[in-house]
This record gives sequence, C-alpha cells and structure tokens, in this order.
Amino acid sequence: MFGHSFLGGVHPKDGKKLSASAAIESYVPKGELVYLMNQHIGAPASPVVKAGDRVLVGQTIAEPGGFVSAPVVSSVSGTVKAVGPHICQNGDTALSVTVVNDGLYETTESFGVVRDFSAMTQDEIKKAILDAGIVGMGGAGFPTHVKLAVKPGMKIDYILCNGAECEPYITCDYRLMLERPEKAVLGMLILLSLFPDASGVFGIEDNKKDGIASVRKAVEQADNPDHRNVSVVSLKKKYPQGGERMLISAITGRKINSKQLPADAGCIVVNFSTLIAVAEAVAEQKPLIHRVVTITGDAVARPSNFDAPIGTNISELIEAAGGFKTDPEKIISGGPMMGAAIYTLDIPVNKTTSCILSFTKDELGNYEPQECIRCGKCLTTCPERLMPIKLKNAADVGDYEEFEKLHGLECIGCGCCTFICPAKRKLSQSITAAKNHVLAEKKARAKKA
Ligand code: SF4
Ligand code: SF4
Repeated sequence: MFGHSFLGGVHPKDGKKLSASAAIESYVPKGELVYLMNQHIGAPASPVVKAGDRVLVGQTIAEPGGFVSAPVVSSVSGTVKAVGPHICQNGDTALSVTVVNDGLYETTESFGVVRDFSAMTQDEIKKAILDAGIVGMGGAGFPTHVKLAVKPGMKIDYILCNGAECEPYITCDYRLMLERPEKAVLGMLILLSLFPDASGVFGIEDNKKDGIASVRKAVEQADNPDHRNVSVVSLKKKYPQGGERMLISAITGRKINSKQLPADAGCIVVNFSTLIAVAEAVAEQKPLIHRVVTITGDAVARPSNFDAPIGTNISELIEAAGGFKTDPEKIISGGPMMGAAIYTLDIPVNKTTSCILSFTKDELGNYEPQECIRCGKCLTTCPERLMPIKLKNAADVGDYEEFEKLHGLECIGCGCCTFICPAKRKLSQSITAAKNHVLAEKKARAKKA
C-alpha cells in the first residue's frame, strides 16, 4: 500500500505550538530521586540496593524481575534513603528506590566511555541494551531487548523508527529530531547491525517538516561504512499515525492484529527517543537515566522541554517551567488522547514520561454524555475498523462474549471514537475497561491451566 497513512483517524487540535520552539534544557534535580520498579511493561524490577547504600550515576539499582522486564539504573550519585512504596501516575503505589542526591554526579567506571559498536558482537550489543534498561520511551514501555529477541528463523525486513509523535501537544521527540538527530541515526545503524538484511525507515509526520529535513541530513552525513539502507518517510499528519499498527501499515503496507507482534510482519518498531537511548547505551556506555519531557498546556507559564534525570519529581519540572499561571483543572501524563489524568505532582519522571499537560479547562470532562444519535462517526473514524458503539453497549452490560465477538480485543485505545462522538459518549473508556477485564480473565485462566 505504501500510502503513508491509514484509514480512519481524527485531526485534533495539535497544540504543539506552545512548546515546539522551546529548545531542550538540561534539568538538574533539586530534591530526592525516586525510581519506580514498574516503569515498563512486564514483571517489575527487583531492587538490589538497600537503605544506606551509596550509589553512583550509571549503577544498577534494580535487576529485571523476569524476561519481560528491565533493570533500573541510578541517574545520580548519593545514598539510598528508602526502598518501599511510592505513588505512581495511575494513583496506585509501586515499589521504588529513593536516592538522596549528593550533587557530585560521580559515575561508575565505564560510564560514558566511548566505544565502537562495529567492533562489538551482536550478543554484546544486545546485552548493552538490556543492561541499560532501555524500554519503549513513546509510552508503551516495552523492554527493547525483548523486541530484539525475535524467534529463530523470523526475518526482519524493517526497523521502523516511530517519529510520528501524533499525540497533540507533545514535542519532546520533535525537539530531539532538531537537536540530536545524529544520535537517533546512530541508534538506527546499531539496530540494523543486528538485522543486516533489514532497511531502516524513520517515519515522521509531515507537520514536522524541519524535523524531517534534520533527520534526512543526519542520515546523509552519518558514518555508514556498511552502507545500511536508511531512509526518512514523510507521513500524513493524522492521529493515531504513531500507533504501531498504523505506522507499519503506512510505511510497509503490512498488517498485524492484536495476536501478532510487529516481528510477525517482519518489522521492529522503535520510538525516536528510544533510538537515542540505544546509541547512548551502546556507543557511550550510558544507560537509560534521563529523558526529554515536555511540560506544556495553557495552565503552564513557560511551556518547555526538559532533559531530566529519571526519578526527578514532576513538581520540580512544573516549577522550572515557571509554575502554573492559572490553576489547572486537569493534569495529564502523556497526550490528551491516550494520556492518563494525574491527581498529584508528587510522582517521578519515568522512562515513559513524555509529557505533563496542564489544562485550565477539562473540555471533555465538562460535557455530560448524551444518547447516541446513530451518526456512525465512531465507526468511520476507528482506525481498527471496529464498531465502537456496539462494543460500548456490550461492555456496559458486561457481555464480554459479545465484546470479543465484535473484536473488542483489537481496540488500541486510541480514543478517536470518544473524540469524534457528538453525543460525548465515553466510548474508548468503556471499551478499554472491558478489554482489560477480558485480558485479565484470560491471564488468570492461563495461570490456572
Ligand atoms: S474502538 Fe478502540 S481503536 Fe477504535 S477508535 Fe475507539 S479507542 Fe480507537
Ligand atoms: S459517534 Fe457517538 S453518537 Fe455517533 S454513532 Fe457513535 S456513539 Fe453514537
């Protein structure tokens, strides 16, 4: 197909103007750093430090809790204050390690020592990515080393870099495209060295024309002695262009469903920030200890993009952005379409924290849902070609059999149906809750069997 787009989708107000021109600022944390053990999909990490231990920048403070898991690495030097529960963005608590920063930024011996990835074996590269604790930084948090562990005999044709950043308001990847494109290209070349027959494609939405130009230039100028095939594709701006299935379809014409992984379609999909983390881990021996976070929304005095150590308290970043100029009615971690409302700023920056969005008005929350007027808009906008209203009806009465028959498990939770619905029905919210219920039941049954 190679249409560089997909069927369905919506065009929400993109709001990126607020922070798009804000160059990345390095943020130096003032307070304690809190490292949550559940910053990724899969088993939580297990702390390997205890209160009173001294830790260094780049030191592993938690080991992976299973194969689908990732280690956690300290972003500062200092003393472990506590290992215990801390509130996380969904309001639950999770095991965490709190470190009192000594401000010395003393590193482990190997931290920052540059090395030539082309002199490393594939196993050494994969181990470096695992040890660095790299997970998908676009929001999903899927451990990158697991993505790269494709089944024997499976052929990977494409490494796709998700540079769509299709969620409104978020500009962290866009700024990285302008400011650190060469690192992302290096990350791409490193991953291509693991799959020498694959092509590397950066897929970037066409609302970031200077981002596309910047990455294209970096591709042209890259030291690419093995002549790996790397290109940059301009994608049509449409939400959710950055959805994994949409991206694969738009660039390769291939399709996957909820039971398949991108590797089943010969693809590995990696976010733009994640590629930079790969480059830093492999070529500079710097684990994933920092990330760029967009602090934006009409309630924020100075919308900004901060490069912050993982573990930094969110309230510090809000303060660094000039604080709130008006009291926010709603604060979201992530974008407005798929992000989660947060109720406290006392949460740390995670590997997946792309954006903290503060609105003076909760526009959707202020509408009462009305009766469905059968306009059919939710059907035509659903990128998975589902019937959201029927799924919601099944979900609301707990008819999970019907929900599955209607392919509810294929829902990617993009929120297009809720966004477009003139009756303001909370479609994706009901569908996501039902999907989570069905998946949890399946997991419980599989455990018993
Ligand atoms: S049903 Fe799911 S995939 Fe379809 S528009 Fe709604 S949230 Fe998106
Ligand atoms: S978009 Fe809303 S009003 Fe229209 S058919 Fe779907 S649920 Fe009903």
